[in-house]
Amino acid sequence: MQDCIFCKIVRKEIPSQIVYEDERVVAFKDINPVAPVHLLLIPKEHLANILDINEANAELVGHIHLVANKLAREAGIAEKGFRIVTNCNKEGGQIIYHLHYHLIGGEQLPNFA
Ligand code: 5GP
Ligand code: ZN
Repeated sequence: MQDCIFCKIVRKEIPSQIVYEDERVVAFKDINPVAPVHLLLIPKEHLANILDINEANAELVGHIHLVANKLAREAGIAEKGFRIVTNCNKEGGQIIYHLHYHLIGGEQLPNFA
């Protein structure tokens, strides 16, 4: 999508610290990390959020989980623990409308209320 900031990261039109890339997924460091490890995992295909996941593309989610598993191990946070979050729409706290999964860890994370 032309004006989508994460599509621009996929196309390398704006800089980012990419830590992983394959034919379907890019992972890069969040520009405003909330923990020592804070990566964003995104599909290269522009999907707005998880409401755009359907029968035809659902396998992508499994692939993103495999990549999250690998990146958590590589970051050294797998054993101690980490969190995967995807925000959906306004009340879910979504700011960027390109599907992304936050991979967060490296310290004790707060429990949800
Ligand atoms: P959301 O609230 O949509 O789930 O989170 C969007 C995330 O994208 C935020 O954590 C924010 O810091 C991150 N972000 C926004 N713009 C950029 C950018 O240009 N580069 C990078 N690396 N992260 C970004
Ligand atoms: Zn996009």
